[in-house]
Amino acid sequence: MIPVSSSTLDSNKAISSVPVDTDWQTQMAKSFRTPKDLLHYLNIDEKKLPYKVDHDNAFRLRVSQHFADLINPSDAFDPILLQVLPRIEEMQVADQYGANPLHENDFSPVPGLIHKYANRVLLITHQACAVHCRYCFRRHFPYQNQRVTDDTLKQSINYIASNPAIEEVILSGGDPLSLNDEQLGSLLERLDRISQIRTIRLHSRTPTIIPARITESLLAKLRTLSKKIVLVLHINHTNEISDSLRQQLRRLRACNVHLLNQAVLLHQINDSADTQVRLCQTLFDLDVLPYYLHCLDPVQGAHHFEVDEARAQSIWQEMQSKLSGYLLPRLVREIPYKTSKTWINNANDTERY
Ligand code: SF4
Repeated sequence: MIPVSSSTLDSNKAISSVPVDTDWQTQMAKSFRTPKDLLHYLNIDEKKLPYKVDHDNAFRLRVSQHFADLINPSDAFDPILLQVLPRIEEMQVADQYGANPLHENDFSPVPGLIHKYANRVLLITHQACAVHCRYCFRRHFPYQNQRVTDDTLKQSINYIASNPAIEEVILSGGDPLSLNDEQLGSLLERLDRISQIRTIRLHSRTPTIIPARITESLLAKLRTLSKKIVLVLHINHTNEISDSLRQQLRRLRACNVHLLNQAVLLHQINDSADTQVRLCQTLFDLDVLPYYLHCLDPVQGAHHFEVDEARAQSIWQEMQSKLSGYLLPRLVREIPYKTSKTWINNANDTERY
């Protein structure tokens, strides 16, 4: 069970007391960038927190006001607060945790393009995210070496077009929805013209962090595309699902966008079967299929989020007893140099897909 409110904080903040800007780019620009600013906004007294905050972390705090408004400031262990607030544990060195846990650079034939799985490639479209998740496996990613320019994008498109085995392009980052509508629209059009591509998939946490990112012009562009469009959201806890996100998901579904979700199993945040079951059911109510439940990638600075594999399996098995099969996300771990994710639902099950 998640230890809820084991430290109750004094806070007078009224949730959503400050109006949120309607323009997504303004919201991005106005994101909180320091623990001090976030704690001040939430009216949380740092001295009363039962853990130490890291104010000098190189992977800077980043969180939108919309997401901050979903935090319960009276709960030091609020599942959203723990995902965004840098803690001193990030500075501890842990065995087996490194800066580049998945060795993605070894699969990059063109800067910004990762070709690891036979039938699909991943395009790093933008280095920025609307939020900095403290457990992010790309928190040390050398984006400066994978910078997307017109030239590298052209090389990537040529690479994809000349490899008939590639049927799916995954736009990732950072976050592809950090591109503006014009840039993203132009990229989508170019990919849509490649004949062998069947599916364009976007991996994005932005709709959850800044729902206003789903603009009318983005929806209009999506309606014009001939390929299947899949949007894989990243939602770890039901508390992240706001009314505005619900509305935006309905608009995306109305444009025939297929919605999936991937979550990461995180210590003290969502590591209970009840929390996961509630998330899966809520997602399905919104026409979002739970896709993956990831075990943490061993990235330096994130070891305090780890849930060990035996416990992850036990949580998943309890979920299995409470959910219909189609609502069960696959419990997976990414193992460097393996050509697919490793399915670890059961201790003796090494089935891969
Ligand atoms: S949104 Fe994804 S890529 Fe960005 S910081 Fe979070 S986990 Fe990392």
